[in-house]
Amino acid sequence: MARERLYLFDTTLRDGAQTNGVDFTLNDKLVIARMLDDLGIDYVEGGYPGANLTDTQLFAEERGLKTIFTAFGMARRPGRSTSNDPGLAALLEAKADAICFVAKSWDYHVRVALETSPEENLASIRDSVRAAVRSGREVLLDCEHFFDGYKANPQFALACAKAAVDEGARWVVLCDTNGGALPHEIEKIVGEVVKVIPGDHVGIHAHNDTEQAVANSLAAVRAGARQIQGTLNGLGERCGNANLVSIIPTLKLKGEFADRFDIGVSHAQLKTLAHASHTLDEMLNRAPNRHAPYVGESAFATKAGIHASAIMKEPATYEHVPPDAVGNRRKLLVSEQAGKSNVLAELDRIGLKVDKDDPRIGRLLDVVKEREAIGYAYEAADASFELLARRVLGKVPSYFDVEKFDVNIEQRDNALGQRVTVSLAVVKVKVEGETLISAAEGNGPVNALDLALRKDLGKYQSYISGLELTDYRVRILNGGTEAVTRVLIESQDETGERWTTVGVSSNIIDASFQALMDSIIYKLVRSGAPA
Ligand SMILES: [Zn+2]
Repeated sequence: MARERLYLFDTTLRDGAQTNGVDFTLNDKLVIARMLDDLGIDYVEGGYPGANLTDTQLFAEERGLKTIFTAFGMARRPGRSTSNDPGLAALLEAKADAICFVAKSWDYHVRVALETSPEENLASIRDSVRAAVRSGREVLLDCEHFFDGYKANPQFALACAKAAVDEGARWVVLCDTNGGALPHEIEKIVGEVVKVIPGDHVGIHAHNDTEQAVANSLAAVRAGARQIQGTLNGLGERCGNANLVSIIPTLKLKGEFADRFDIGVSHAQLKTLAHASHTLDEMLNRAPNRHAPYVGESAFATKAGIHASAIMKEPATYEHVPPDAVGNRRKLLVSEQAGKSNVLAELDRIGLKVDKDDPRIGRLLDVVKEREAIGYAYEAADASFELLARRVLGKVPSYFDVEKFDVNIEQRDNALGQRVTVSLAVVKVKVEGETLISAAEGNGPVNALDLALRKDLGKYQSYISGLELTDYRVRILNGGTEAVTRVLIESQDETGERWTTVGVSSNIIDASFQALMDSIIYKLVRSGAPA
């Protein structure tokens, strides 16, 4: 049976940018647009040209994307002509493949907010759509407050949508602007709309104020809508927009949708979803939500020992989809509550063969518990756990010794008379009886230490040349009178493999040093470097 096409429309850069505390630069927007393009999103709404400098610049040049890059703006203002509305002119000038107008579709808003007549509102929609169609653009109309409007006056709400389609709009998008509608209401109202406007011209734009934006979007699809609007990680003002990161795998992996619909995201592209989600968080300097469906670090994590042994036998027993389908992975938690079976399963995953009755397993569990009690987090630092396990099992060679290190931070004027802060690290290592001293300057003490440490490791240098720090996270843990610092470092090598290591100390440099050392030694172990 031929599957119907469902279209995905991302508004992270427009509606998502309304989020409190989010302020995308021009470069951020370009990076995110490319990421969405690579993911296979059909439409990317870039912003509101003419409304601010960033968006105006964004729409001033060609971007070379496959996606339909869309400009957003208001339908012409009441009482003006299309040729005499600067907002509309900016939209028509923008280098955009499509234009999405927003217009009122609730008579109450037309009266109270716009202070105009229903007829003038309809004329504004018709005129704006006609002008954009004439300019050769694909046209969309966001019907603001559509569901509240429909409940109050269905004829008027429908007339607004119909006016746009009659003038050649490709899509009318039904917006639950206040985010208060419920799935059964959405399904019913969309069902009524598609009797008048074909479903393959109808989109849904849901907000998450009752935490049902995803459910509402799926309800609209069930009722006949064929475009879904949403944002990465559900970014958006108040409680956010519909989260595309949850919607996409649901459409792709759940039979009810996957059997009936095609989307622009392939299975290969779906595997990059977790990465895209985490990249956005990184750009916003936010910790990714561990419990995010599909892509969160805990989405496929199991703690209790009894589940772990079942998962080892048959993953589908405790997983609703395979984690690697969305670029995530199964995780058996090694932690305070860890049972022996979790540890055995984790050792098995790492490729360490140990007899299940080996007394060293119990010892490893004890060490993990002791160290987690003082702040280490092995759930988040898989590479440090692997090293710990290998050490307890006596399988980590002593490659080199750091005899001492020294980190200096200096603030002074540079040659241009500017105040600068410079960090300098000196590291003394012993490799095979030979003492090597390296020094490096960095933009901070940890950066300097990292550079100095990796500058010269003698015969091991070639093994770590592709090693790179990709993330550095610091948390202050409050334990009693003394604050303890936990550092998590994410590293990557030339093969693209990523791993995380942990260090804990009352001194941030010392905690960082531990995590850096673990990362280097982990890389040497993985590369099979000779002892
Ligand atoms: Zn919105």
